[in-house]
Amino acid sequence: MRQIPGAWHRTAAGAGLVGSDGSIHPTIFAEMSALAAETGAINLGQGFPDEDGPPEVLEAAREAIARGANQYPPGRGIPDLLSAVAEHQERFYGVRLDPAREVLVTAGATEALAATLLALIDGPDDEVVVFEPFYDSYAAVVALAGARLVTVPLRWPDFQPDLEELARAVGDRTRVILVNDPHNPTGAVFTSEVREEVVRLADRHDAIIVTDEVYEHLTFDEPHVPIATLPGAAERTLTISSGGKTFSTTGWKIGWVTGPAELVSAVLAVKQFLTYVNGSAFQPAIATGLRLGDGFFLGVADALRAKRDLLGTGLRAAGFEVSVPAGSYFTVADARALGATDAAAFCRELPGRAGVVAIPLTAFTTAERRSEYATLVRFAACKRVDVLREAASRLADAH
Ligand code: PMP
Ligand code: GLN
Repeated sequence: MRQIPGAWHRTAAGAGLVGSDGSIHPTIFAEMSALAAETGAINLGQGFPDEDGPPEVLEAAREAIARGANQYPPGRGIPDLLSAVAEHQERFYGVRLDPAREVLVTAGATEALAATLLALIDGPDDEVVVFEPFYDSYAAVVALAGARLVTVPLRWPDFQPDLEELARAVGDRTRVILVNDPHNPTGAVFTSEVREEVVRLADRHDAIIVTDEVYEHLTFDEPHVPIATLPGAAERTLTISSGGKTFSTTGWKIGWVTGPAELVSAVLAVKQFLTYVNGSAFQPAIATGLRLGDGFFLGVADALRAKRDLLGTGLRAAGFEVSVPAGSYFTVADARALGATDAAAFCRELPGRAGVVAIPLTAFTTAERRSEYATLVRFAACKRVDVLREAASRLADAH
């Protein structure tokens, strides 16, 4: 009989995702949300909004259920959503796509990432280059696919990569360069130099670029620029996004992948055996969302910018040093001045000390680099204004 834990557990243990005995850790988000529920603390940990998104989108889902959109949708996604994604890419970025061949609907960006990496990775010699800290599913899926994770550090306070370090990380074994922009957990939006260097390196080493753009509409200074729009990038780039953040529907899990038809088909080949399909009634609703007017899209960014500012002011008043994010739900703060030496311990104590839950940045790092992020903490700004005010006042009182 095969031993349990199996091969994935051994690789994942190296990345700190499971215990060396094979015990499975809950994700940091689940752990911290449970801590918030247990202690009654304000949850600025897991990134989900505490308000509903646009009523037209919610109504479209109710209507879809009522008219019987309750069985398996087509494997690539319902035609209306495929078209809505293609229209969205053209409207915001000038990218023209064939909705029937160059768009695939997935169970959130999470499945899109998993299916994409499983489709592209060939074996244990393949390397996937990611910026570190990274969204937790990246290391898990790279381990699941049996490839090697190579990381390029993003450093406090601006979290832009050093271009020479980036160039050193990419080589002929690099199968994928995975870029999350705007970036979770740091809130960084990468400079045009970084984007151009990613494309240049991918071209030189014949790597595929995979982008995670789930925060594409949540930028505070400049409109988002997908890497696929850079010269020479489209033919080697798979672009991933989802409706969860833009429409405050993180539980619906409607995501998508766009890119060259043959790459999208490779992703479909895996995806059909992961979930096959999902969200028959949510797909038309997200199509409605993607076609909302410009006012909606500007409004979500404006609202979140104001929340970022409120959170930042509160954190500074409470004694943190704050890195100002250019996008995403998140703000990273340095808790060193508050006596923190171990962000994980600091976050475990924060509910008792201040009635607030946050996430240590060390949850997004490899064991090798954990110490470089040991005093940094991620706070989510995607909460109601009154909740952020209360959190700020609790943190200030605890100071
Ligand atoms: N990528 C990043 C960077 C995220 O922050 C998240 C989730 N919050 C996801 C992917 C997952 O997206 P989804 O909920 O659409 O699966
Ligand atoms: N993306 C969300 C975050 O970063 C959480 C998603 C999850 O719980 N897996 O907080």
